[in-house]
Amino acid sequence: MIIESTLRPENAVRRTTIEAGDHYIGTVKRGQTLRILDLEGNQAADTLFFNADDTAERYSAMDTVREQGAVYLTAGTRLMSSEGRTMLTITADTCGRHDTLGGACASESNTVRYDLEKRHMHSCRDNWMQAIARHPEFGLTKRDITHNINFFMNVPVTADGGLTFADGISAPGKYVEMEANMDVIVLVSNCPQLNNPCNGYNPTPIELLVWE
Ligand SMILES: [Zn+2]
Repeated sequence: MIIESTLRPENAVRRTTIEAGDHYIGTVKRGQTLRILDLEGNQAADTLFFNADDTAERYSAMDTVREQGAVYLTAGTRLMSSEGRTMLTITADTCGRHDTLGGACASESNTVRYDLEKRHMHSCRDNWMQAIARHPEFGLTKRDITHNINFFMNVPVTADGGLTFADGISAPGKYVEMEANMDVIVLVSNCPQLNNPCNGYNPTPIELLVWE
């Protein structure tokens, strides 16, 4: 569902560019609005959310899909936690839909899907691991890296229930915006994948904006 935001970038309290293939970890407070902006288009932003006060509570793809009775995320979707509470609510979306079924790329999946020689290529899982290792103050460990959201990524479900990676439906300047319903830790891998069309084979920067 396409819903445009009324928030203006010049009024944002925080603006952060995540370079192509890089990672980000930070906090968004309850009541703040977070926008993820696809600067150049066709990018995948692999994202995890945690309750900032108790990281054992985290984003749950299963609870989110069940509660809304639909597999794609878009404006109106409540991003549910593993405790069945709403963590964030998507309030605007100019892309139209986002994936939470496909999971994230890892050196292991790169090896299985593509080739043994792809094992050393940069991946989202490595990105998240680097972020939590460099920022121990968030208290996250390897065991907290679980199922994620792929903002902007196009993983259509086929008529017979299959999953496919397809060329992106995002474009330069498209964004998704969500209001935090609790204080959350945001962990993003700006996907470095070069072996499938999720980034159009060309990883590019994204921007995070936060409003009060
Ligand atoms: Zn990835």
